[in-house]
Amino acid sequence: MSDTKVKGRLQESSVRIHNFEEVELGYNDEEAHEESLRCLQCINPRCVKGCPVNIAIPEFIKKIQENDIKGAYEVISRSSSLPAVCGRVCPQEKQCESMCVKGLKGDAISIGSLERYVADQAIINHFNQAEQKEKNGKKVAIVGSGPAGLTCAGDLAKKGFEVTIYEVLQKAGGVLIYGIPEFRLPKRIVKEEVDSLKSLGVKILTDVPVGNAITLDELQKEYDAVFVGTGAGLPKFMGIEGENANQVFSANEILTRINLMSGYQEDAKTPIKKGKIAYVIGGGNVAMDAVRSLKRLGIEAHIMYRRGEEELPARKLEVEHAKEEGIVFDLLKNPVRILTDEKNNVTGMEVVNMVLGEVGEDGRRSVSEDQDSLHFVPCDMIVMALGTSPNHEALKGSNIALTDRGLIVVEETKTSLDNVFAGGDAVTGAATVILAMEAGKKAAKQIQEQLLGEE
Ligand SMILES: Cc1cc2nc3c(=O)[nH]c(=O)nc-3n(C[C@H](O)[C@H](O)[C@H](O)COP(=O)(O)OP(=O)(O)OC[C@H]3O[C@@H](n4cnc5c(N)ncnc54)[C@H](O)[C@@H]3O)c2cc1C
Repeated sequence: MSDTKVKGRLQESSVRIHNFEEVELGYNDEEAHEESLRCLQCINPRCVKGCPVNIAIPEFIKKIQENDIKGAYEVISRSSSLPAVCGRVCPQEKQCESMCVKGLKGDAISIGSLERYVADQAIINHFNQAEQKEKNGKKVAIVGSGPAGLTCAGDLAKKGFEVTIYEVLQKAGGVLIYGIPEFRLPKRIVKEEVDSLKSLGVKILTDVPVGNAITLDELQKEYDAVFVGTGAGLPKFMGIEGENANQVFSANEILTRINLMSGYQEDAKTPIKKGKIAYVIGGGNVAMDAVRSLKRLGIEAHIMYRRGEEELPARKLEVEHAKEEGIVFDLLKNPVRILTDEKNNVTGMEVVNMVLGEVGEDGRRSVSEDQDSLHFVPCDMIVMALGTSPNHEALKGSNIALTDRGLIVVEETKTSLDNVFAGGDAVTGAATVILAMEAGKKAAKQIQEQLLGEE
């Protein structure tokens, strides 16, 4: 049995920097089967403990070994409503795959790639999610259609609840639609998974800003329970001079305009005014998505990050892909002022070099500025990818308890308001798809217990 995983195929970097099509091409039948045969079928599978939604991983891989792909899909969909999404964007290397015993001496099983393979086959062959239960007479409203809301909706619909999702944007999916770019997560995949929830009876109302068009209080009166999964979509800025110049964006704005509004096309309603040299400030996954999107628009695209390569918070795979695509990494550097011309257009930044210090209490190395290193860096576009915080429009007029950081306070998933539950980034701050899904699942369980008095 090989210690080396079957490598997935990729679109060539020289080709993919000119398009938005998916970079990773996924396993074909033979590759998936070969990789599945590497699984040891552990009696006490550690990988399941590493999965926040506890997918029965060895069980679905066994089905692939037996060429029963429908069976594999049924196993996965018992625990996850979004397998084609998770197979693509979950940080498996830190979760299920990090626990795989095969990883002790060689490569862990490529659980994410196998999950993606099964989910893609389910889409191609129209396998259905679990059967719908008879309606139980209870109605639940979900605010926000990101992974937290969609998962909560799917789990409740499968238990017979009448579920309605309220979404402010014109499409359902949250960050999966407006944030993560097409080349990592094709929008048709998200749509397929959303459609499969609709086929369970979930109703989705888009273009509805909760807090304005309808209030939380009104939802509380109309429904037996409400789940709030409004995410953390408010971008942070540095607060430095010149930040209000033209051509300074947040990563969220750039990605939304590219993903949702085709802003990269000249005839789009709100076209992006492309620069020649762009700097994305930050080193996380959002920064990688923004910089790789800009590269695809034909812009010379740089990352500027104040720590070193070891400290980059983005997934290693994304950094690797970005490097293959010719992204320039300017590490241990930080802008202190943005310079503009008389029309307030960006002309460059004043930048200082940074020096790494000791590891602090938060487990990260401290950084300080090298005062003598101030220098000018020319550019005509700057994108801030410094993290996000929750936007609480949906909670307007309610007195729901929030933390000092503006996160919704919950006990498990129950908020301070009667029959109002919450989960995902709105509760934790910016995190991951699978953690949002885990919260959606927990909330569905608590809602069921509260409304039906059963587990
Ligand atoms: C660019 C980017 C890349 C990322 N890449 C990854 C990755 O590779 N892997 C990973 O695991 N995680 C990734 N993440 C993080 C992950 O996407 C989030 O943690 C996850 O989407 C959070 O899910 P959620 O359901 O809590 O919120 P969201 O996905 O943010 O969804 C919230 C939804 O609520 C809606 N909403 C907000 N306010 C209202 C209102 N008033 N009325 C109605 N609707 C409202 C929003 O429009 C949105 O659709 C990424 C995030 C970003 C921004």
